[in-house]
Amino acid sequence: MKVLVTGGAGFIGSHLCEYLLSQNYEVVCIDNYITGTSDNIKHLLDDERFKSIEFDLTQNIFPILSKLSGINYIFHLASPASPVDYTNYAIETLMVNSAGTYNILDLALKNRAKVLLASTSEVYGDPNVSPQKETYWGNVNSVGPRGCYDEAKRFAEALTMAFYRKYEIDMVIIRIFNTFGPRMRKEDGRVVPNFIQQALSGKPLTVYGDGLQTRSFCYVDDLIDGLTKAMFLEKTRGEVVNLGNPNEMKVIDLAKQIKEMCASNSEIIFLPLPEDDPLQRKPDIEKAKKILGWNPKVPLDDGLKYVIKWFERVDSLR
Ligand code: UDP
Repeated sequence: MKVLVTGGAGFIGSHLCEYLLSQNYEVVCIDNYITGTSDNIKHLLDDERFKSIEFDLTQNIFPILSKLSGINYIFHLASPASPVDYTNYAIETLMVNSAGTYNILDLALKNRAKVLLASTSEVYGDPNVSPQKETYWGNVNSVGPRGCYDEAKRFAEALTMAFYRKYEIDMVIIRIFNTFGPRMRKEDGRVVPNFIQQALSGKPLTVYGDGLQTRSFCYVDDLIDGLTKAMFLEKTRGEVVNLGNPNEMKVIDLAKQIKEMCASNSEIIFLPLPEDDPLQRKPDIEKAKKILGWNPKVPLDDGLKYVIKWFERVDSLR
């Protein structure tokens, strides 16, 4: 079986490629490396079942079509995903989720492949209800700084549903909540890599706002388990499913926990809250439990330990 992973050189994509190879799939990875990096997949290049293509999915896909023949499954992950990245690449984010998603859905239709669209908890915006269920429509500011990502993913969801309704393609939409793990980029600006690096280097931990906003953090291995179940179980066809860890916590408490785990003397400072930063986020995962038999297993403490070790190792190699 042949699987395409778009955004395969990104943080989540590279873990997914690795896992799929371990399960004996043939894997084709597409990435344009604006936020992914070839470092994430260089250890896979010797595997003859693995092919990597540098390509921008918003372009005409025809020149690479021959390399994509016989694809059975498509994980469509390609998109900047951290607030810092999608602010820097706002137009690219809108284009890869619109034109890029169109190209991928068209490819799926031609190959009769199943598509998994990697969507996001950001489609819920700054939610008025908590926890967020798949049936909640969201509270999104289309013209705010996060609109480029939120609306891009909402459009990608709508386009995927349109292909499903009109052409009856096989598809599933997964809304990914905050995920963390090794290979997050140092400079991607997300809270876990920021706090860990700040704590390890003795710099102040930068809490935005009063730190009372909440997030729920899922370790990457749990997410990969959920993504692959969602793709390979037949009964997920046409479904929209949240994947995330429902263990909700305040950002200030995350800062304190990371500082303690790194045995750091860093101070904790408070900076302005970015515009439209959601005040709460917690997935309702009842649907994932029911139809995927999925439940995240890695406790936050363990996950943070792995990532702290990883950052220490990467730093020692510099
Ligand atoms: N955050 C923070 N300090 C940082 C980076 C982020 O306090 O150095 C906060 C951010 O304002 C948000 C939460 O941590 O409330 C999660 O931010 P992240 O960028 O990881 O992802 P988001 O959930 O906003 O997409």
